[in-house]
Amino acid sequence: MSFVLAERVSRLKASASIVAQEKVARLAAAGVAVVDLTIGEPCIDTAPHIIAAAIEAMRAGDTHYTPAWGKLALRQAIARKLKRENQLAYDLDQIVVGCGAKQLTFEAFAATLADGDEVVIPAPYWVSYPEIVRLNGGTPVFVECGEKVGFKLGGGALERAITPRTRWLILNSPNNPTGAVYSGDELGEIAAVLARHPQVGVMVDEIYEHLTYDGKASLNLVQVDSRLALRTLLINGLSKAYAMTGWRVGYAAGPPALIAAIAKLLGQSTSCPCSISQTAAIAALDGDQAHVREAVAVYRQKRDRMLALLADAPGLRLIRPDGAFYLYPSVAGLIGRKTPDGKILETDSDVAMYLLEHGVAVLDGAPYGLSPFLRLSFATSFEAIEEGCRRIVEASNRLG
Ligand code: PLP
Repeated sequence: MSFVLAERVSRLKASASIVAQEKVARLAAAGVAVVDLTIGEPCIDTAPHIIAAAIEAMRAGDTHYTPAWGKLALRQAIARKLKRENQLAYDLDQIVVGCGAKQLTFEAFAATLADGDEVVIPAPYWVSYPEIVRLNGGTPVFVECGEKVGFKLGGGALERAITPRTRWLILNSPNNPTGAVYSGDELGEIAAVLARHPQVGVMVDEIYEHLTYDGKASLNLVQVDSRLALRTLLINGLSKAYAMTGWRVGYAAGPPALIAAIAKLLGQSTSCPCSISQTAAIAALDGDQAHVREAVAVYRQKRDRMLALLADAPGLRLIRPDGAFYLYPSVAGLIGRKTPDGKILETDSDVAMYLLEHGVAVLDGAPYGLSPFLRLSFATSFEAIEEGCRRIVEASNRLG
């Protein structure tokens, strides 16, 4: 017997970065040494004091279900974090914990979207947003935000995208894949448009909040206009700042009724996030933050090294990212060029495939919603950055 798959699953696209990881793993297993610049997670391990807290939790019998909302002590730690780092006051009934930011994004849309509701997504975007919106019956409305606007959504573009069916806008700053970070003025422009459209909620994805460079600080809409707190859902988590992707802890803060609806869904899906990970998350949030600052300083060096190594790559136009750990160079200059095998590069996917043949794995811009670009991750070793960039330059030089 073979199962008939639900239409929503047949339509679903697999995550581009997960597919790329599998491809690199297959090549590695076949003995092909590929430099992997597709990595979407920190290249460091979780700090020892966080691991120690988890081990202690296991020994102490902290191995049971927790409330679906997450442990009270963790929600209190999140409230302290929001006050300390973002100067935002959230009550405990406004905070819920999930298995990563991704799950909370999913449940927020599951809790609010009706068929055909529109969600405005600035492009380029994190690959999962459109799929999560569609899975929950919504319709993504993409707004192209190219290099000329620093990959950021402006007030005019937002105004044009909003219709009576718009339920949400997603804002992701610092951004995956571009590293763009919105300034207070830019957020103010967006807030002014939203003031005219009270039916539109905002999902603010701050998962890369701590990873900003050159004095650029991550700000969110609620900090810029507190009136928006009633219709903004802040999404954040431990994955990127604390190098805890595998622990699966994220959180959302927002209006109590929405938070309660999300918690209800969590209670009927995962029951609760891992109890041990939750205790580790408390140690991360309340503990010494020096290791986060040190990691950010190293990411900045890696960004600068990658920018320097690719400065002379023919056909690549580099845009300096202010945050996250990705470069999103334009490869418009490589389109139409001929490979040594006589193939014309027609798309950024062709460029990524050509580079893979030259031993360096990168992601094409297509799944991120803006082409022709590549996403290069600098969350890897200096050696991989050196060798990967050398191969990119060499491969670009071999094009006719
Ligand atoms: N949001 C963005 C923009 C991301 O890039 C990612 C992970 O790559 C996530 C959310 C998911 O984070 P988490 O590990 O907390 O689910």
